[in-house]
Amino acid sequence: MALEEYRRKRDFAKSPEPEGTVRPRKGRPLFFCVQKHLASHLHYDFRLEHNGVLLSWAVPKGPSLDPAIKRLAMHVEDHPLDYGEFEGVIPDGYGAGIVLLWDRGTWTPEVDDVDAALKKGDLKFTLDGYKLKGSWVLVRTSGRYAGSRGGDPNRTWLLIKHRDDWSGDLDIAEFAPMSVKSGGDFEDIVASDAPDVWLSNRPAKGGETGALLAEVIERGLKLKAERQAAAPPRRTRSKTSKSGPAGRKAPSRAPRRKRSS
Ligand code: MN
Repeated sequence: MALEEYRRKRDFAKSPEPEGTVRPRKGRPLFFCVQKHLASHLHYDFRLEHNGVLLSWAVPKGPSLDPAIKRLAMHVEDHPLDYGEFEGVIPDGYGAGIVLLWDRGTWTPEVDDVDAALKKGDLKFTLDGYKLKGSWVLVRTSGRYAGSRGGDPNRTWLLIKHRDDWSGDLDIAEFAPMSVKSGGDFEDIVASDAPDVWLSNRPAKGGETGALLAEVIERGLKLKAERQAAAPPRRTRSKTSKSGPAGRKAPSRAPRRKRSS
């Protein structure tokens, strides 16, 4: 797989997202992540490392730990491996909004041949993240589910948790909403990374998402002002996330480096 579609959709002079390369890595565990993305719609981007890129599905409602709940997962273009650590603000253009690294860890296929499983439309795997663990499956559907209208009928998949020690009726997205990278929420990302362009041109204006984004931006700008008013200037964020169901605390880190360009 290559990254042509990923690159075609983006202007890297304007976006902080990594340009990336196809980077196969041998002999180490495979990376996975989930990025909560507040863009034109809130969704969760579920990504699995395979053959040097991140296979990607956009999951509108996010993963569910309940095996009875099948979550729609739209297959989208492969992303570079470097994207897996990305968190920040996309000021403008494709995917404009806020990306929060919601979970990350490693994954293990439960099949010998991942390509054959993808072709067949039935990929079973085990996750070992902060929030998501245990056995899962991605199954391709015939495309009769909502949100699958038009386009490639092969895009529509379902993400389902298998019954095991890590399944349950906990709403994991609500229980553990924070970033595993910075420990913060969307507003903390805005507070450290608010783009000027949003003061005049917001990525989502109308509807529920527009209202949510406006609220997040307002809270983020207020946080930023409070932090700037505090002396001496703090170099790291003090806020830590709630611990996940595994009782592990998300590591806290300094805000993302700004691009020098
Ligand atoms: Mn997305």
